[in-house]
Amino acid sequence: MKMERNITVNEAGHLVLGGVDATVLAEKYGTPLYVMEEDKIRGAMRAYRSSIEKFYGGNGRICFASKAFCCKEMYRIADEEGLGADVVSGGEMFTALSVGFPMEKVCFHGNNKSDKEIRMALENHVGRIVVDNMEELDRISHFADELNVIANVQLRVKPGIDAHTHNFIMTGQIDSKFGFALETGEAMAAVKKAIETPSVRLCGVDCHIGSQIHEVTPFVKAGEVMMDFIASIKEETGYEIDELDLGGGYGIRYTSEDDPVPYAEYMEAVSAAIHAKAEKHGVKVPFILMEPGRSIVGEAGTTLYTVGAVKHIPNVRTYVSVDGGMGDNPRYILYQSKYDFLLANRADAPADTTVTVAGKCCESGDLLGENVPLPETKAGDIMAVLSTGAYNYSMASCYNRNPIPPVVMVKDGADRVIVKGQTYEDVCRNDV
Ligand SMILES: *Cc1c(COP(=O)(O)O)cnc(C)c1O
Repeated sequence: MKMERNITVNEAGHLVLGGVDATVLAEKYGTPLYVMEEDKIRGAMRAYRSSIEKFYGGNGRICFASKAFCCKEMYRIADEEGLGADVVSGGEMFTALSVGFPMEKVCFHGNNKSDKEIRMALENHVGRIVVDNMEELDRISHFADELNVIANVQLRVKPGIDAHTHNFIMTGQIDSKFGFALETGEAMAAVKKAIETPSVRLCGVDCHIGSQIHEVTPFVKAGEVMMDFIASIKEETGYEIDELDLGGGYGIRYTSEDDPVPYAEYMEAVSAAIHAKAEKHGVKVPFILMEPGRSIVGEAGTTLYTVGAVKHIPNVRTYVSVDGGMGDNPRYILYQSKYDFLLANRADAPADTTVTVAGKCCESGDLLGENVPLPETKAGDIMAVLSTGAYNYSMASCYNRNPIPPVVMVKDGADRVIVKGQTYEDVCRNDV
């Protein structure tokens, strides 16, 4: 039996994930528990890859933005599926290196890379360093000279499109800590400097306009602005830019209110705009890079909790407390993010009550959702929070010294641990 948004429920009325009964997972591994469905991850990767084939004749690459869900197994899967990866820190780079991920397919981002991280990237021949600012360009060329290597770089550009809000805006000078501004001439100055620096090879330009975007237009506009920039680089300097990195940001479904655009639709519209601009300006269509994170792993993840205290406050609200919270999912306390909830042990029961789902941390703000429709809920129920695959485990902390839960991968009725849960020994391992 299937419910809206492809939720599978078995005859016992239990939620099924990757062919495995979620209540069995909760029993076997304990709660809280992160569950990831491998078919959904690989399916999203394949959909993106086939869009590159279809709309760019294969002249491009998908790089998984690993900050969305970073662990060794994700780099293995990305590699098996032919993807590259984005890293934003020495720690993510180290994780990729530790499983032998092909470093030439890695883009290293960040607005404040340390000397140590830059050296690490150069020493390990990371494919592209995405340069954020002039001072960083100097440091990259300094370390490239010192190590006697050529640094292959892209420049992070602010295309003047801010799509962080639901309605995107195109402004002149945008207020962002990331990248070079176009309209002040800063981006062009950086291009010229990169071209003139012998230890640096300017491969491409990069933009990333926001996250959880549900509209096609901002991506199309960003593609157009970047193609105009590539054309003006050629006009002013004669230099041809080989690569255009369009970033990530494609929206996913968190709740039934979200209506994500199918990725092929974004890809088709952006590709049409890029081809049109290339023709208009007489420049070649660059090698296209894309960096989806959330849209590859977000909907593949479900978090399971056990319900504990249920507190009815007459005429106020009912708090249903679970055994996790802001430690394993800080997105509510950070952004009041919305999720869909259900009871994994009674997944087919009608949601006829409205509750506030609270975490167990000593913070009043530690909630997972307000005005949540659920069946009558009692201690011992297994609660499932859907679409937690992105920016949950990767943002987790052991605040209150609650150990970070394990991550279990499910596929075809089988389950396996891909990240072990922390133990109490782990949470005080570095204490002296
Ligand atoms: C965060 C980020 C991404 C991924 O964004 P999603 O919204 O998860 O797709 C891609 N590129 C850069 C540079 C980022 O900072």
